[in-house]
Amino acid sequence: MQVFKFGGASVKDAEGVINLGRIIEKHQNDKLLIVVSAMGKTTNLLERLTLSYFTQKDDTSDLLEQARQYHDTILRTLFPDEHHPAYNDVANRFVEIEWILEDEPMDPYDYLYDQIVSVGELVSTTIVSHYLNYIGVKNIWLDARNYIFTDNTHREGRVAWRITEERILSEIPTLLEQQLAVTQGFIGSTSENFTTTLGREGSDYSAAIFAACLDAEAVTIWKDVPGVLNADPKWFDKTELIAELSYLDAIELTYYGATVIHPKTIKPLQNKNITLHVKSFIDIENGGTQIRQTEGTLPIPSFIFKVNQVLISILPKDFSFIVEDNLSDIFSRFHQYQIKVNMMHNSAVSFSVSIDSTGENIAELLRDLKARYDVQRQNGLELITIRHYNQQTIDRVLVEKEIIMELKDSYTCQLLVRKLAPR
Ligand code: ASP
Ligand code: MG
Repeated sequence: MQVFKFGGASVKDAEGVINLGRIIEKHQNDKLLIVVSAMGKTTNLLERLTLSYFTQKDDTSDLLEQARQYHDTILRTLFPDEHHPAYNDVANRFVEIEWILEDEPMDPYDYLYDQIVSVGELVSTTIVSHYLNYIGVKNIWLDARNYIFTDNTHREGRVAWRITEERILSEIPTLLEQQLAVTQGFIGSTSENFTTTLGREGSDYSAAIFAACLDAEAVTIWKDVPGVLNADPKWFDKTELIAELSYLDAIELTYYGATVIHPKTIKPLQNKNITLHVKSFIDIENGGTQIRQTEGTLPIPSFIFKVNQVLISILPKDFSFIVEDNLSDIFSRFHQYQIKVNMMHNSAVSFSVSIDSTGENIAELLRDLKARYDVQRQNGLELITIRHYNQQTIDRVLVEKEIIMELKDSYTCQLLVRKLAPR
């Protein structure tokens, strides 16, 4: 039994769905669960729609119309017969959003977000499932909310593993005896049947949850890159494919910000010793990357770049040292405002962290910290993490950059840098 996961980029247009069909056709006699994200940038669009509705702006229905049109264009290419049931099924998914929009927003934002944004995945899987049946690949559409259960933390649902495993095992293995199954990534349900989501880019994690519960042989994430590369091609010209990676290295790379796989994906697979393949949906014969239990270390240095970093330096006002009680106070405030620390460093009298400038609550956090500490802020920095570094790799990334903060251990080097002004 295997799990395949297709992200938004792989199904961003009709050609993408047709390509998915070609990949799945080769596996139609396997036991296969297919997890699919929302198409293209639909999640971003539905996020904007949710905010527009919540703040009662006047572009809410335009945004809904955009989402409808986008999927309609895909439907028209895939199903020339306009009476195909896919049209009706997709329309019904959008009706769920319409119903919400009819009333003024009374519920909390995060709750509304999950109810609206989840429609992206429900629509995409409806289209994919119909299309596969249409080309003769027999499959059943499954609502992931009947299987993946979470707590009530909207937008960051935490998986209730026991009930999730029970529900998955009680139905899915039998269903897979008869046909393939198509389901949504990213979404789940509370025990009271309210829709939750697992955090942005969470479809990889969904695939891992299903795979772990089903004791799958392998998971394959189909991507628009050839596999896990030693750097994001967005920042680096000469990237290299890492053919094999240990779970530990994969966790470390994603922890430091490699975006190729969602950070939560690896652990459930590692627990069950399930191999994770990361492969290209464009070049499907290419072997890609295998992530599994291996003694080997990362064969080549790997680079992770995070731009738009803000350095926050915190100094106690009373010149007291940075000691445990200050640190725990500071950490609890970062936790309270849900701001993730990408790098930290402390000296006797100050504590410095690098965070993403995009954090929603930075202003509140700073106001709060300033009540008790002297706080300094430096914008426009870049964080470079190198796993399995050596001096040559450090020199390579430091061209025209100035180091603001640096941390090294035997495997990892983190450099917080600023671009030097051109001379
Ligand atoms: N559609 C969701 C997102 O874009 C989940 C995912 O793609 O993994 O965040
Ligand atoms: Mg996505």
